[in-house]
Amino acid sequence: MNSGASIQRLSPQVVGKIAAGEVVERPASVVKELVENSLDAGARQIGVAVGRGGLDLIRVSDDGRGVAAAEIPLAFERHATSKLSSEGDLERVATLGFRGEALPSIAAVAAVEMASRPPDAAAGAFVRLEEGAVIDSGSEGMPAGTSVVVKHLFGRQPARLKFLRSPATEAAQIATVVSHYALAYPEVRFSLTVDGRLTLHTPGSGRVADAAAGVYGQRVAESLLSLSQEEAGDAAAEVDALSVAGLVGAPSLSRANRSYISVFVNRRWIRSRLLTYAVEEAYRGLLTTGRFPVAVVDIRIPPADVDVNVHPAKTEVRLRREREVFGAIQRRVRGVLSRHSPLPDLSASAWEGSTGAKAGSVVDPAGQPALLPQSGELSPSTPVPVEGPPPPRRLPVLRALGQVGMTYVVAEGPDGLYLVDQHAAHERVLFERFLGRRDAAAEERQALLEPVPVELTPRQQALVEEMAEALEEQGFSLEPFGERAYLVRAVPAALGEKDIAQAVLKLLDLVEREDAVADRRERLAISLACHSAIRAGQALNPEEMRELLRQLEETQMPRTCPHGRPTMLHLSADALAREFRRR
Ligand code: ADP
Ligand code: MG
Repeated sequence: MNSGASIQRLSPQVVGKIAAGEVVERPASVVKELVENSLDAGARQIGVAVGRGGLDLIRVSDDGRGVAAAEIPLAFERHATSKLSSEGDLERVATLGFRGEALPSIAAVAAVEMASRPPDAAAGAFVRLEEGAVIDSGSEGMPAGTSVVVKHLFGRQPARLKFLRSPATEAAQIATVVSHYALAYPEVRFSLTVDGRLTLHTPGSGRVADAAAGVYGQRVAESLLSLSQEEAGDAAAEVDALSVAGLVGAPSLSRANRSYISVFVNRRWIRSRLLTYAVEEAYRGLLTTGRFPVAVVDIRIPPADVDVNVHPAKTEVRLRREREVFGAIQRRVRGVLSRHSPLPDLSASAWEGSTGAKAGSVVDPAGQPALLPQSGELSPSTPVPVEGPPPPRRLPVLRALGQVGMTYVVAEGPDGLYLVDQHAAHERVLFERFLGRRDAAAEERQALLEPVPVELTPRQQALVEEMAEALEEQGFSLEPFGERAYLVRAVPAALGEKDIAQAVLKLLDLVEREDAVADRRERLAISLACHSAIRAGQALNPEEMRELLRQLEETQMPRTCPHGRPTMLHLSADALAREFRRR
């Protein structure tokens, strides 16, 4: 940022290169632009106040470097900016704003007053505009910084007003914007006042965790895990100047929608379906379907690798190394999660059947000897650099005691009692085994003495074609045979059923149902695991129970099944003592 630069009109050439379009769609877009200006001005404190969803009033005040009195009117001219001068600058924008469009656009649809005092100026100056024209200006005493007041937004654009939602919804959108910037700029003190009520404030301590506490509350902040490279010691990522920082929620912290996933590129909040999806992908198998994580992910990448000039509100960026960024996010988040995989606690409520996905039913494993941190990779298809010493045991050694309802294995560990869902646990074991398979060995493949014909629906046929490679890797040999029939020549030994045709159809049914899983190998592995795993209701002898626990101990993520449901519940020695009022 060229600090102290004066505001200049951009040349027509530069203007021509700028993505034009609507900047001010709703109250939240005004707040976004004003907050960005404050951040660009190097503010350490930013106060936002809104009235009636921002329609009556929006005020953003900061303690930044201010605007010289003589330049304030220029700030309201279209394409006048202090942040960009040449075309070349457009290639490496380091500020949040750069087009000189926000203030004039806001002034065109609202009554605006800007007052500003650079720290070295004796007094502040203000201008008042209506319908984009200055109606008043002068000087006034004020602290160093800038304050912009926007009133009667869209007061003269009734058509626009009709498109807005209720003031409460608009206020919520504004809170989202402020929250995002508060998370991306933890060194800045943010406050948001809605209709006179302070709804959000962060301390400006510089720690993302503190900002998260201000935004999401202390409880949520405590279940956030750091993504920062220093702690994970990923040197490789820094070499090519791509790094991933921020916080992600433990899987116990899931939400019903994606709005708690915030992605920033060089601290610019962006909406990116792809990068949001990278975060979601990292939680695959850890969250129940329909649940989403809480995450604040900041990607740092050289400005030259990002094109921010593709969307009028700058909420979308084009990344030159998109796939790489996608992979980096996924690996980093996954790595952090697999090192810290919490175990559902069998608290009193858990007896009533709560799952790991429910907030509050999970104990933080920190400090519990039974739950050493994990490391290493989840599966061969998602390599995560193994850091530090060899991975410790992921589960304590469990001793099987018996079976309950022919469904749960009761086990004792160094810290209390464990109830293991036999189907979910076996699914986890098989899932990792199938996912790791690249070419089924002879003993994993059951060649049929006589080929078995199966008739498929057009949908199933399409599925078989789509999954052909994955099916083959798992040991299937399917050969087209007439219109819609296939000849089955071999199946994975794990399928282990007498009626092969029936088994193949059942499996395809499962594959069809797992359509939320994009990766074909994974989709088939989940389906095969589900199909082949021991069922609930199946009696197990002590040897089988022991073997199941032993295999579970060897998995990378033993605590959830591939669908994200818990494989086990834990009643710690402490909890037992508490429940029995021994202390
Ligand atoms: P842009 O941010 O793209 O430059 P704006 O219309 O948002 O365009 O702002 C125009 C100019 O006004 C900025 O370049 C900056 O010099 C000045 N300005 C706006 N808001 C502030 C602020 N809060 N503190 C200091 N300068 C500001
Ligand atoms: Mg701006």
